[in-house]
Amino acid sequence: MSGEEMNFTFDTVPNIIFETGAAARLGEIVSPRMTRPFVVTDKGVVGAGLIDGALKGLEKAGLDYALFDGVEADPPAKVVKGAIETARQHKADGVIGFGGGSSMDTAKVIACLINSTQSLEEIYGIDQVTAPRVPLALIPTTAGTGSEVTNISVITTEDDQKVGVLGPQLYADLAVLDASLTLSKPRHVTSATGIDAMVHAIEAYTTKLKKNPVSDALATKALALLSANIQRACDTPDDIEAREAMLLGAMLAGQAFANAPCAAVHAMAYPLGVHFHVPHGLANSLMLAPVLKFNIPAAAPLYAELGDIVGADGTGDFQMRAESFVAKMVEICAATGVKSRLSDVGVSHNVLPKLAEDAAKIERLMKNNPRPVTYDDALALYTEVL
Ligand SMILES: [Zn+2]
Repeated sequence: MSGEEMNFTFDTVPNIIFETGAAARLGEIVSPRMTRPFVVTDKGVVGAGLIDGALKGLEKAGLDYALFDGVEADPPAKVVKGAIETARQHKADGVIGFGGGSSMDTAKVIACLINSTQSLEEIYGIDQVTAPRVPLALIPTTAGTGSEVTNISVITTEDDQKVGVLGPQLYADLAVLDASLTLSKPRHVTSATGIDAMVHAIEAYTTKLKKNPVSDALATKALALLSANIQRACDTPDDIEAREAMLLGAMLAGQAFANAPCAAVHAMAYPLGVHFHVPHGLANSLMLAPVLKFNIPAAAPLYAELGDIVGADGTGDFQMRAESFVAKMVEICAATGVKSRLSDVGVSHNVLPKLAEDAAKIERLMKNNPRPVTYDDALALYTEVL
């Protein structure tokens, strides 16, 4: 590498607490930063009792919180706007996102807009947020999105498009990672979210424009942890060591892709979420194999390196090692029992052109892919896994 090529910037959340059981002392953790927290979550998290300990902790610390449990998957703009209004009525001076990626993404946007005159639509895109946000803490309950350490929220617009809100304000002040919150998650959730996290690591490591030594170190460590523990977490859902490894891996992958962004697997997954409400993790796992195979001609040396990390056959030239890596990833995913065909999630042949058109348009992600993806390529990739 020449000196010039070595230049890079790297950002992440300044304060990360990784501690099993930490949710119970959320009150003392956030109390120096806020007195009237607005807690953002969904009904599933509340129904499962996952948030009870954290809420008790907030009470114990004397914090006058309001609970919003109306988050929906792939957060619709309408729901986010309603939440912002409720947060204003509470006179919230801080936001706590508690849940999966959708809860954390919603919390980030609320924190940016509570005290702002900007509308939600005005902050769509990159670096559009103008006002400072209120203090923000994020607590994940799945090991997947890594949203607790990323600078992006993905919102579904009123005309059903997925848009990103990106900017430095989207990095939280604090991420609290408590693996006990991820215990007992059913196999299909553990598997899809864990595969999503592996995709983050793989796409960050092979991203075309902003790959750097820090994101590389994070991505490789993440992929090692995730690939070695996903099966164990699926088979023994209450294994705290496996859950800790998955939660750590997902966070490291999140730090990596926040700086070295995702690419075609994610671009091709998004239309499946928009048109068929396929959960984000599952959509990514469906598109992983065809896109990795497609990328081999442009990414073989890097895939060969990743092959060593996941325990793929290391013999042969770059091409053979890259093929072994892809085969190993397919094997790891299949062993978790995750769905592998688009037809398993209700996608039919006639909609593939629309999906391909939408995917090819997601320039924000496609520009990072090691190999350019045209509309025809996208159509062929969807067709391959129908
Ligand atoms: Zn993802």
